[in-house]
Amino acid sequence: MADAGSDGTSGGPRIGLFGGTFDPIHRGHVEVAEAVHDALGLDRMLVVVANEPWQKQDRPVTAAEDRYAMVVAALADRPGLEPSRIEIDRGGPSYTVDTVRELGARVPGAAIVVVVGADVVAALDTWREHEALRDLVTLAVVDRPGAPVVDPPPGWAFVHVAVAPVDVSSTELRARLEAGEPVEDAVPDAVIRCLSERGLYATGR
Ligand code: ATP
Repeated sequence: MADAGSDGTSGGPRIGLFGGTFDPIHRGHVEVAEAVHDALGLDRMLVVVANEPWQKQDRPVTAAEDRYAMVVAALADRPGLEPSRIEIDRGGPSYTVDTVRELGARVPGAAIVVVVGADVVAALDTWREHEALRDLVTLAVVDRPGAPVVDPPPGWAFVHVAVAPVDVSSTELRARLEAGEPVEDAVPDAVIRCLSERGLYATGR
């Protein structure tokens, strides 16, 4: 994948990779995926559900299949955005560098754009094989309400993409759901139906 073409000159498709735990997916996530897809004119935008998010080992995480089902529900009416189970199918801890390599092998010549919120940029140096990853991708950095606007560390190719601010986090939504509070303002209706059918976040009590 040495010629991943992070500057888009490879001639292959330009593929956005927006990874997350999506526990649950919310309107902020959908807004980000759509804005980056449209702003950069990407050929594809994959919304990749982490199998085992190694950054979130401090709390129990909802089963990957349930999180994936919510992502499928959220994107059903968004034709440009594709739910991806690449990390679930690979199994084990989910490292972006592995996903980028797998995608590069499946789609030779692809130029891969990894989408990250501003809160994640500050932690890029903790990512597995971050120096190798740096040479394989371009970052699309989006602002996140409450997170300071920062550039990635030196050496990363990146673009900033403006996104309409949606001030919400999955952490806040889990707390609201568990308290029986409404979340319609921040979670697509199809996701609410999905999580309630599956009895997630104590909604089945
Ligand atoms: P949690 O609260 O459980 O940590 P989260 O809301 O941060 O979850 P993740 O699934 O961890 O959601 O986020 C995946 C990606 O989406 C990250 O790059 C994160 O920065 C970005 N992101 C999440 N929420 C927003 C938002 N409201 N605006 C912009 N980016 C966001």
